[in-house]
Amino acid sequence: MSKTMKAALIRAFGEPLAIDEVPTPEPGASQVLVRIVATGVCHTDLHAVDGDWAIKPEIPLIPGHEGVGYVAALGAGVTSLKEGDRVGVFWLNRTCGHCEFCLSGREMICPKQINTGFATNGTYADYVLADANYVRPIPEDADFAETAPIFCAGLTTYKGLKQTEALPGQWVAVLGVGGLGHLAVQYARAMGFRVIALDISEEKRSLARDLGADLVIDAADKEAVRRIRRETGGGCHGALVTAPAVAAFSQGLGVLRRGGTCVMNGLPDGEFPVAVMGFVQKGLTVRGALVGSRQDLNEALEFVAQGKVRATIEVEPFERVNEVLDRLRRGEVKGRAVLNLSN
Ligand code: NAD
Ligand code: ZN
Ligand code: ZN
Repeated sequence: MSKTMKAALIRAFGEPLAIDEVPTPEPGASQVLVRIVATGVCHTDLHAVDGDWAIKPEIPLIPGHEGVGYVAALGAGVTSLKEGDRVGVFWLNRTCGHCEFCLSGREMICPKQINTGFATNGTYADYVLADANYVRPIPEDADFAETAPIFCAGLTTYKGLKQTEALPGQWVAVLGVGGLGHLAVQYARAMGFRVIALDISEEKRSLARDLGADLVIDAADKEAVRRIRRETGGGCHGALVTAPAVAAFSQGLGVLRRGGTCVMNGLPDGEFPVAVMGFVQKGLTVRGALVGSRQDLNEALEFVAQGKVRATIEVEPFERVNEVLDRLRRGEVKGRAVLNLSN
């Protein structure tokens, strides 16, 4: 392994990433070094690069948190993995392991979590460091590029759909059919829901149709909510908002049936109004949902292993990372863009 590696770094917010040679990190106790073969490009990375949120990462920083590849080196005390193992790295680089949330299967809300590609260097590089207990194995026959998006987009939407508490046969709306949403449509179908997909872009709506959504609606249509209420006989049992736009959150609440739950995955740094009377009278629930636990990830990967979910990907050479981010900014990526780092 060479002393330096190729990486894309945020050096200034809103600027193109700098592709540089930087020192290859060495795994500390309980860590592994992972040789990245492919990494997905999540809209969260774009928020980080553009400095969209009030909370900004410390820069320079290597973004990326949907990385898959091989274990390349083990830190002291690591016995659960060996060099050459196929693994993926996700948003939870590590959590404290001791708090009430870690101890109750809710490690994704651990207040001491360290996030890959945000609080520590991420996967837009030849190598990344991760805690050995937080990487997840990838099945022998799984394609790296197709598996990468499961480590954030797949996990997050699978977990979000579970948290709608909708039952098989019931209606679930997916608002936003991007990297997250196109997987949400597939998980929702695999989980037995009837799926309504909404997006403002015709290309994304067309993808949702190809993926088997039962009903596809233009989110910008003023009649969208009324139409959904009519088609579902009173509204959806669950809604999953994956769009990075505040408008989609009001719509997510609007499409709910009495007693329904709207799960929020998208992360625009904004607010949306809630009419208290209607909310109370209809017994609605709104719930924030951040990625998922390692066990949720195992479950999300199992759907892929069974052939029930398959990411739609656009594979690009790593060197084109800035063009890819631009296309994501403009809403032009179909499914998930994945950067190839295999050479
Ligand atoms: P993406 O850019 O791939 O997809 C976003 C989609 O939303 C696009 O298809 C776009 O056309 C659509 N859209 C935009 N405005 C819309 C509107 N008003 N109504 C309906 N659709 C609309 O992004 P992504 O990678 O899927 O990420 C989406 C959001 O989820 C981002 O804010 C990201 O930070 C967040 N995210 C959250 C978590 C979590 O754990 N909660 C995890 C990953 C990503
Ligand atoms: Zn992500
Ligand atoms: Zn914790």
